[in-house]
Amino acid sequence: MSTTEHTSSFHMTPGEFRQFGKEMVDWIADYYENIEQFPVLSQVQPGEIRAGLPDSPPQNGEPFDQVLQDIENLILPGITHWQSPNFFAFFPANTSGPSILAELLSAGLGVQGMMWITSPACTELETHMLDWLAEMLDLPEKFRSSSTGGGVIQDTASSATLSALLAARERSTNYSSNDIGVENNLIVYASTQTHSSIEKAVKIAGLGKKNLRLIEVDEQFAMRPGLLKAQIQADRQAGLVPCFVCATVGTTSSNALDPVREIGEICAQEGIWLHVDAAMSGTAALAPEYRLIQDGLELADSYCFNPHKWMFTNFDCDCFYVSDRASLIKTFSVLPEYLRNKATESGAVIDYRDWHIQLGRRFRSLKLWFVIRHYGVEGLRFHVRKHVNLAQQFASWVAADPDFELAVSPPLNLVCFRHIGGDEVNRQLLEAVNQSGKLYLTHTSLDDRFTLRLCVGQTNTEEEHVRQAWELLRSTATNISQT
Ligand SMILES: *Cc1c(COP(=O)(O)O)cnc(C)c1O
Repeated sequence: MSTTEHTSSFHMTPGEFRQFGKEMVDWIADYYENIEQFPVLSQVQPGEIRAGLPDSPPQNGEPFDQVLQDIENLILPGITHWQSPNFFAFFPANTSGPSILAELLSAGLGVQGMMWITSPACTELETHMLDWLAEMLDLPEKFRSSSTGGGVIQDTASSATLSALLAARERSTNYSSNDIGVENNLIVYASTQTHSSIEKAVKIAGLGKKNLRLIEVDEQFAMRPGLLKAQIQADRQAGLVPCFVCATVGTTSSNALDPVREIGEICAQEGIWLHVDAAMSGTAALAPEYRLIQDGLELADSYCFNPHKWMFTNFDCDCFYVSDRASLIKTFSVLPEYLRNKATESGAVIDYRDWHIQLGRRFRSLKLWFVIRHYGVEGLRFHVRKHVNLAQQFASWVAADPDFELAVSPPLNLVCFRHIGGDEVNRQLLEAVNQSGKLYLTHTSLDDRFTLRLCVGQTNTEEEHVRQAWELLRSTATNISQT
């Protein structure tokens, strides 16, 4: 591509955009076709990627095809291939063709959807998609926009949890903490297995880490509601104010399912805000047979799950629901003169800027719209079931092998397991399989033992990939044991 098409404006012309846009899409399609040839875990050393980049920015624009070429030379070596079907680490951040195309369209429209008036479609499609998802997952009626609550897209579960905590803080101080300051007698409860984002939220919300109570778990690593209740009572006796409980449906470490109903009954009796964090596992409820994971959810004040983990929607997209939208809006709403407009004042529209921390917002519901319409509810269900079945199959191989054991019985698509040779053998095994480039796994600690985790959730993971992973683990373990 010559640079002669550049006009004196320096802009990329529509003709150039058309050409390079097609090349970019081709590049991505080729990438997916060849993705299994790359080592799943990037093998570069710290600083290696920066060392390949020029020290200073170019004074004059460069031809775009050179930029495209440098993706392969300078960037790809530093990519850990989250979209490889051999990616089993952490939790998935899967994606799909329709989602990527929606992301492109969102960028092309370049909409900033802070208020209804700034692009009515951005707000109304979002409200509609969150209601569709409430129907698809069979969420409690009160989370729908037609009821007292509603849903909003947040960037991440971390932001959703923080928003829920801020609303809980305001509700329990009669929306006065901004007049009298944050009271540091507000207490937050979660299990010892809760995601680190809750500790971060407690710090940011001004409650202080010392007001976070981590409740012990049972042998399945789920919160023990009896201990929660006892702790709440002890705090009340000490003159403190129990404010917020976070229950997790599918903990990050081991996929444990906190008993939402029992926790919810305690919260209802005590008048405490219950937030349910189902960041990855919430997607499982697309299939009716897995909906027991949300038993008791009608007792929750708020709920979130991440389509950007397991629902074929590229990062970022967290769906956050509240049962009483007024509490959220009262927490976040401010109205400077420059944002005043007739639609807002009429009260007939939603302004999502009042539903979260930041003002500006992207047109993310396009991704949900494209994904749901492409797959249909049945298509999404098919893939969720397949992932769960593959994980269960892997678990059955582990259970049948005398050299390996399951750390817990896996409820859904995450298998926690270990070689019986002890922590050092498992550590070496993990290092060796990840260095092979053939797959990527991560670990956790359960009962103070080094535990391997295999999570099935990448869009294109098939039985052959899970089988290869198991064979590699077994043969590598045999080599380690022999040396
Ligand atoms: C992944 C995860 C989070 C954090 O998700 P972000 O969207 O990255 O903030 C929080 N809670 C649970 C249970 C998770 O699995």
